Amino acid sequence: MVLLAAFATLLLIRYTSAAPADFPGDETPYRVIPKGTVSPDIGIGTWLYGYLDCDKNFGNGAKGNIDEAYYDAWLISKEVNLLTKGVASDIDWNNAAALDFLGAPGLNIAQRPQILAVFANTATIIYNYKNPFQHYIKIRCDDPLKKCQNRPDQHPPPNPGDRSKSPPLAYALNSDPDSSGTPMINFCEGFFARRSLADAIKYGMSLADPHDQKLANYDNRAQTFLHELFHLDLAADSPSPNPRVDDLQINIKVNNDVRTYMAYGSWTCKVLARWQGGGTGVGSVGYYVQRNADNLAYYALAKYVMSKNGDTYPHLPYIWEEELAEPPNTKPDPGSLSTFVRKGNNFYLNTTDDLSSWESSLVGDHPSCPDNLNESEVRSPLFIDGFAPDSAYPDDYNSQVSAWKDALPLPDGGSDSGSGGETGQQIANVLFINPL
Ligand SMILES: [Zn+2]
Repeated sequence: MVLLAAFATLLLIRYTSAAPADFPGDETPYRVIPKGTVSPDIGIGTWLYGYLDCDKNFGNGAKGNIDEAYYDAWLISKEVNLLTKGVASDIDWNNAAALDFLGAPGLNIAQRPQILAVFANTATIIYNYKNPFQHYIKIRCDDPLKKCQNRPDQHPPPNPGDRSKSPPLAYALNSDPDSSGTPMINFCEGFFARRSLADAIKYGMSLADPHDQKLANYDNRAQTFLHELFHLDLAADSPSPNPRVDDLQINIKVNNDVRTYMAYGSWTCKVLARWQGGGTGVGSVGYYVQRNADNLAYYALAKYVMSKNGDTYPHLPYIWEEELAEPPNTKPDPGSLSTFVRKGNNFYLNTTDDLSSWESSLVGDHPSCPDNLNESEVRSPLFIDGFAPDSAYPDDYNSQVSAWKDALPLPDGGSDSGSGGETGQQIANVLFINPL
């Protein structure tokens, strides 16, 4: 009996939290009430509250956009978990979206339970099916850490000629600076510039082939919200049993230069997931994709898009390693296809392009500006020194990739109409207008 009481007390300490002193804040709090539900169950779901300066800084619809993104993040996480009354199905680890964002099957086995648990726990925290424990997330738009400011106006680069910096779309803290112990998400201007989930699906599906196949064309506010939630210990059930979900950096050799990028955006996340890694703990690619928020967010987004477009995976851009082809005989388009080459120990992105134009907007140039400000457990940048071989992937995936490559029009062969710009702009969109 004593043991039972002690256990119950432990549970209470872990799972209950009194309302923060500033709840409900100066604006109406919000929590998810599934459509069709007459009234919310008592104590179900996590409250958003506060919304400090949101409408003031970003217009009257700002709070509504945040609440909608939260609801839609729940829709995405339900889809990825195939939730039935709170029970998450296992992921099909051999489907193309999982292979592209969560790594080759043999290289993520040890981390699968944690990846699955992060998805399931996040869905549960947004709208709690299982436990009547109340949680709160403080929402702000007043930028308490001064991370939203546009650069380089306020923070010019230290060396003249350095590329300018982009502010994040949002950032997350496990403990709000003014409400200690309460998790916080602050939204910046870029978040509000994104489409809603529904509009992004409509927009992406309306584009001409192959642009409707570019996952980045479906970027939206709900995915940003989900990305931020993954950083919170509350949502990801971190640091134990699930290691914290961070924003990693990767080093990629581009021709002869080593460049450092944040692992944001579909292209960079795919490069990370295709990395060969090694071993079963640190060094296996599963260890890193579980710790990189955008890998999880893009996998989830891909699954959601597929639930709306007839189960077609938006597979672009894809990453390709091929036998030495020097010089490249077609102009590469990282928005659709990038070719990496291995020459002895030298592993690099093979391109004849001058990348400076699209790199000028790279979040990847800002290694000091991640949006996750919680403690990190991983040292990065990670040096991408080789891809997992084709033999690490299922045969039908390898033939699918060959078919994608064959089907792709030559990048020089047409305009990028309908996708918001020319090739260079498209590359930037795919990679980097995504400082989450
Ligand atoms: Zn992040």
